[in-house]
Amino acid sequence: MTPPVIAVTSLTRRFPSGTALDDITLALPPGAVYGLVGANGAGKTTLIKHLLGLLRAERGSVRVFGLDPVAEPVAVLSRIGYLSEENDLPGWMRVDELIRYTRAFYPAWDDAYAEELRSAFALDPAARIGTMSKGQKARAGLLIALAYRPELLILDEPSSGLDPIVRRDILGAVMRNVAHEGRTVLFSSHLLDEVEEVADHVTMLAAGRIMLSAPLADVRGAHASLDAAFVAHVGRSAQGA
Ligand code: ATP
Repeated sequence: MTPPVIAVTSLTRRFPSGTALDDITLALPPGAVYGLVGANGAGKTTLIKHLLGLLRAERGSVRVFGLDPVAEPVAVLSRIGYLSEENDLPGWMRVDELIRYTRAFYPAWDDAYAEELRSAFALDPAARIGTMSKGQKARAGLLIALAYRPELLILDEPSSGLDPIVRRDILGAVMRNVAHEGRTVLFSSHLLDEVEEVADHVTMLAAGRIMLSAPLADVRGAHASLDAAFVAHVGRSAQGA
């Protein structure tokens, strides 16, 4: 059996405000698109921060490529492309400077692919990041997360700020393409229709617990829609979250 890219075992994380992750266990093999669904505060970002080594497992264990991301951050992060929810890019840089700066860190950076994405995302190389719209920043963030063809692409709420056309035609295609190449995508979302369109596998989180984790085809076979599955497993609708 192929070893999982992401292996999380009995991961629990508490904050003073409450339990953000409650005994999470997940094993995700490579070559697929994984959709992590949950309402605001469900624990999606906290789980992602553990995968990136930004939070240390208080209880349980986290392995990415078989490695502990806290103990071996360079070995893990050099193989991950990440787009954060905040998308905190340096505002003073121009798009072309951001591309030049980022490519210096990654030997596998693909110039032709970066240019293809820049053109598809209609990003002006001379545009100053600080003056760009939320959607333009999201596109720039996606470009630099993708252009070194990472083995694992982690996108935290990638569609926030993206217009529907970029979301459907570009983001979806990009994620499918990564999986077709045998690489792996994990993205979080509270938009069930988006997850239904692009994910191979769906994991539903609520109040820090996994309520359902299954191939999308199985979920579709058992429920009229992903929304119906969410209501059945989580007890309320994810829409409006
Ligand atoms: P959203 O869709 O709003 O981004 P989420 O599913 O990503 O939500 P998290 O950001 O992981 O959820 O938050 C889970 C819970 O943990 C929330 O109750 C949140 O308030 C809490 N939390 C997250 N980070 C911290 C922190 N650094 N300190 C205290 N509480 C935190």
